[in-house]
Amino acid sequence: MSEPKACVIGWPIKHSRSPVIHRFWLNALGIAGDYVLQPVEPDTVKAFFAGFRDSGYVGCNVTVPHKEAAFAAVDEMEPVAETLGALNTIWLEGGRLVGASTDSFGFLANLDGAAAGWHADPGAAVVLGAGGAARAIAWALLSRGFAPIHVVNRTPARAKALAERFGPSIRPAGWPDLPTLLPSARLLVNTTSLGMEGQPDLRVDVGALGDHALVNDLVYSPLETTLLANARSRGLAAVDGLGMLLHQAVPGFEHWFGTRPEVTPELRAAVLATLDDG
Ligand code: NAP
Repeated sequence: MSEPKACVIGWPIKHSRSPVIHRFWLNALGIAGDYVLQPVEPDTVKAFFAGFRDSGYVGCNVTVPHKEAAFAAVDEMEPVAETLGALNTIWLEGGRLVGASTDSFGFLANLDGAAAGWHADPGAAVVLGAGGAARAIAWALLSRGFAPIHVVNRTPARAKALAERFGPSIRPAGWPDLPTLLPSARLLVNTTSLGMEGQPDLRVDVGALGDHALVNDLVYSPLETTLLANARSRGLAAVDGLGMLLHQAVPGFEHWFGTRPEVTPELRAAVLATLDDG
């Protein structure tokens, strides 16, 4: 039998860190296999999935702009993916394509690891952004008992769509509402691309948060965003987004290569080194 090989598909795809993560684990665990970048042009993605069983791949990760095509292509999916209407991980099971969404898992595992007890007394949360990542985070927070979850977004329709998907615990809001929402928030999560290298900075008055609020930024490049730096200098607990990227990769690796890998400081250092490379 040939060595198992998985891939990440997207267009463009060359900036994905996924090969670094999976190759690190393959190497550390002594598993013969590979994980590669697979560029797939938008007009060929349907054919790519139609031929997946004969592609030689045991599975793949899916990134922009192929998430919708992947959702339509799988034969079955895990309940979380169904709920979110999105997936990022696919594997073959008895010839059937199975899909999962691992972002919620990655988000929760990151906070569980970096801020133990963070959900012991859940209350209000503020989520900045209402895109694909925000959907996964809103679901994850609901699953841990947070309510209300204020979803602050530039485009009102996207925040409203989240409330329609998940119900009245999700409260759509706009940026001007933020100062009134921050004082009661136990948790502030940035799921926008603001603060990312090459994007405008994210300006939030962390002074308005309570003394026990936790701040999490999904942006991991730079690792220490202005939001996190400001939260830390105000004495708040703050968690970066790299851990989520690492943890969300765990279920896929286990499905493709048969061993559940661990997120370790060594893995984090290996991925960080590639971020420093730009
Ligand atoms: P997306 O679906 O494109 O959503 C982008 C969000 O950012 C939207 O809410 C958008 O608001 C907001 N936004 C973008 N530019 C803005 C601006 N100039 N002013 C105000 N709001 C702005 O993207 P996504 O997939 O949710 O990803 C969002 C971020 O999360 C990215 O930085 C991504 O790298 C990061 N992420 C990290 C992880 C991880 O593992 N750490 C996982 C997933 C995503 P509008 O709706 O108004 O456009």
